[in-house]
Amino acid sequence: MKRNRWLFAVGASVVGLNVLAAMGPKAVGNQPPQVAVGTSIWRNGSFPVENFQGYTSPFGYRSSPTGGYSTEFHTGLDFAAPNGSYIRNWWSGRVIRVSDNTACGTSVRVQSGSWVHVYCHMKGYVARDSRGPYVVDGGLRIRQGQTVKAGQRIGRVGMTGRTTGPHLHWTLKYQGKLVDPAAVLRAMHRAQRGSISQKL
Ligand SMILES: [Zn+2]
Repeated sequence: MKRNRWLFAVGASVVGLNVLAAMGPKAVGNQPPQVAVGTSIWRNGSFPVENFQGYTSPFGYRSSPTGGYSTEFHTGLDFAAPNGSYIRNWWSGRVIRVSDNTACGTSVRVQSGSWVHVYCHMKGYVARDSRGPYVVDGGLRIRQGQTVKAGQRIGRVGMTGRTTGPHLHWTLKYQGKLVDPAAVLRAMHRAQRGSISQKL
């Protein structure tokens, strides 16, 4: 019974990825987006981590990293990078939440129009003052409510939350729906080919 569920889950995930691949960067999940996104949006997007070493876990259903036959849905894409590598904000926007008390660890959530991008397992912790919460990592401060530019360093790769090694977990949502970050990176790569062709 469990095995059948697992197979079904993997099938569903693959279908979702195929739909995304067939429809290109404008596609979100199994539905086309309500708002057309021109290719120019991808041109200025930043790859989200420095000293990138490889993708360690894709978006979608996977076996539980803690063993056994259970499955879980991996809501983002994992980027391996050495402990302390800088994380770069993907797209200009506003920090709508900072947090350090979930499996995501010390995290920053940024909104850019219809997109929300989340960075997990960062170094540092959340402090609070009269103006509200902010992430502290050495001399770096990222405050809830502040604006951040594309490519701006917003933290460093760490091991906070549920993780077995230093990496960036990156979640993307478009109009509230999860999107495979790899599809977005492929679209960025196509738009930026020639200028950053070595990055992906
Ligand atoms: Zn992850």
